[in-house]
Amino acid sequence: MDQFASLLLQNAEAAIIATDTENRILFCNAAAYQLFGIPCCDSNGRPLAEVFPQAEIVELFTRDVPDERGRRREISLSDSKLILSASLTIVPGVGRVAVMQDITHLKERSQIKNEFVQRVSRDIRSPLTTILGYTEMIERAGPINETQRSFIERVIFSVRSITALLTDLVDLDRLEAHLDTDLEPIQLPLVVRYAVEGSRRQFEAKAQRLDLVLPERARPVMGNPLHLRQMVNNLLDNANKYTARGGLVKVSLAEEANFLVLQVSDNGIGIPAEEQAFVFDKFYRASNAVAEAQEGTGLGLSIVKRIVDAHAGRIWLESQENQGTTFTIMLPVQNGNKT
Ligand code: ADP
Repeated sequence: MDQFASLLLQNAEAAIIATDTENRILFCNAAAYQLFGIPCCDSNGRPLAEVFPQAEIVELFTRDVPDERGRRREISLSDSKLILSASLTIVPGVGRVAVMQDITHLKERSQIKNEFVQRVSRDIRSPLTTILGYTEMIERAGPINETQRSFIERVIFSVRSITALLTDLVDLDRLEAHLDTDLEPIQLPLVVRYAVEGSRRQFEAKAQRLDLVLPERARPVMGNPLHLRQMVNNLLDNANKYTARGGLVKVSLAEEANFLVLQVSDNGIGIPAEEQAFVFDKFYRASNAVAEAQEGTGLGLSIVKRIVDAHAGRIWLESQENQGTTFTIMLPVQNGNKT
């Protein structure tokens, strides 16, 4: 290796370990020794497991890595309780290199935030349920006039909005904390069909047509069924919300190469071109949306984006104001891109 390149890598802040195809060390920098509490030594040419006995590290360098997702992951070291973010590169016929960073403090902070959000949302939710219950009962306690009825409706609307916000916040928080990460082979056509059937009423209420084009079966995707359902639901909710009465919404799913491609398109209000880049940001609502549909937390698409990311997929949109919007999601099929 070039002397300067070696010097730079030796002094890099991240821990770097490279091995050959026989799992012997080719390169290892000072940060790696420090991270694993091993005195600096000349380890070049020695078996990895001899220098770094931690089972998690040996596993990182020896196990089969079926896809891109497997190459970026968090590793919890059982002996030191450290949490590392590791990214692995495999060069066939040459070896592997892992770049690792200690993210223990970030994990601890995110766990505190996570517990706080879960706790606050639980504590706020129960008085809200009480408020909603009593408000809905006011009419049963005696006659009320029109003005009072409209006040009650506003209270109910507001309580429902806060409840929806809490639900979205907790969902987003769980996704960001990488909870519920168990993945299983999923038939996406079924998930889409159930989501569409479950939302038919909502579309009927606005006299909107909801067209569905699905393959009978498709190759499975590795996914979390509840999250995938929520992903489809959120797109359907938006199509319904931001499309006028009598509008048209189309949902399609197709298999293309190693991906399943889901599209949800509508002929609704569209998203102004200069605002399209922001709609996946938390709490962002486009300027034309607020007038169209008051209800909305601005979190639905952030949740969708997190779910797509957690499934190693991609999402994008095409939209024209007053013409309509199409959201496209590509999810890799199981074992689709084996290396
Ligand atoms: P919200 O709760 O406001 O619907 P989302 O995160 O789901 O929040 O969406 C963010 C913003 O993206 C919406 O407020 C709206 O401006 C825009 N948007 C999302 N879907 C559509 C759509 N199908 N048509 C038009 N605008 C949309």
